[in-house]
Amino acid sequence: MKIMKFGGTSVGSAERMGAVSQLIPAREPVIVVLSAMSGTTNHLVQIGQQLAQAEKAPAASLTDQLEQRYKQVVAELYKQEASKDKAKQVLSTVFTDIRTCLEQPFSPAIEKIILAQGELLSTQLFQIFQEEQGIASVLLPALEFMKITQDEEPDMAFIRENIQKQLAQYPDTHLFITQGYICRNAKNEIDNLKRGGSDYSASLIGAAVKASEIQIWTDIDGMHNNDPRVVKNTYPIAELSFDEAAELAYFGAKILHPSSILPAQQQNIPVRLLNTMQPEAAGTIISSKRSGNQIKAVAAKDGITAIKIKSSRMLLAYGFLRSVFEVFERFKRLLI
Ligand code: ADP
Ligand code: ASP
Ligand code: MG
Repeated sequence: MKIMKFGGTSVGSAERMGAVSQLIPAREPVIVVLSAMSGTTNHLVQIGQQLAQAEKAPAASLTDQLEQRYKQVVAELYKQEASKDKAKQVLSTVFTDIRTCLEQPFSPAIEKIILAQGELLSTQLFQIFQEEQGIASVLLPALEFMKITQDEEPDMAFIRENIQKQLAQYPDTHLFITQGYICRNAKNEIDNLKRGGSDYSASLIGAAVKASEIQIWTDIDGMHNNDPRVVKNTYPIAELSFDEAAELAYFGAKILHPSSILPAQQQNIPVRLLNTMQPEAAGTIISSKRSGNQIKAVAAKDGITAIKIKSSRMLLAYGFLRSVFEVFERFKRLLI
């Protein structure tokens, strides 16, 4: 089984969805993990913010705008009336759900239901598109298997057991489509794996099914030696070890969600970063193989607070560092 994750830009328009479809191998078993179409999650975040400020009218108008965009996508994506009707039904359900949320007083749980709609839309629209192309596929509902614990860590045993159960229902299916980013939490509410979390979903799913490879398809030809949004003339790195890639992701290389390497590394599954706009490019392969000792890339992160801790009684003052770390634990802040 191979995992192919496509990010927001890769499914950002009717045309891009068509291109993605061409990249999926015909007969190999594949789980396709999709992000929301680009801009959608940001738009949903804005709707949530308006609701949080009890600004119902702007929230409703943002919802109308988003629905208009999706109506346009539906008009462009499908040729057959039957597909258009199915897709319109999807829009109707999703946008009714969002509007129902807007009727309720704000709560973090309501906000997360709103945020989940982007991936629910992209996957359903893509599956109808596959059907129109005559390609058999099954939509795997991520909310049935992707779960986080009370500590917001993936519940790997639950994920493994439940995705296997889902897959076992369709022994003759080669192509599965599922949502990135969304999950359930310990209270069984709809939740998510934080921004950019579809990469993490792909890696968790890959680990759960012991995939042969996890492919992360995005809008650039692999991990570059520096952030191309900041530095000119960057170039892709052909090979990285799991440790190198994890460190770059953790310290700000936005191409990967910070936690997305670990599940793959634990199962020794290679992760390949590829470009949907340039599928023939080699991209980056991330594996257990180590190559060279030289520095391969530089990453940077904003919003870091450096804390300098000094104690005149450090010598033999056991328990000092424990008290420092306990403060971070109490406030659930990361220490890097
Ligand atoms: P997706 O929507 O496919 O998940 P992202 O926007 O999350 O894509 O990640 C891809 C983007 O990450 C690139 O377009 C690039 O601007 C940015 N990026 C930051 N640092 C790097 C890096 N070192 N190498 C490649 N891309 C990087
Ligand atoms: N749609 C989510 C986001 O924009 C998850 C993802 O794209 O990975 O953050
Ligand atoms: Mg991303």
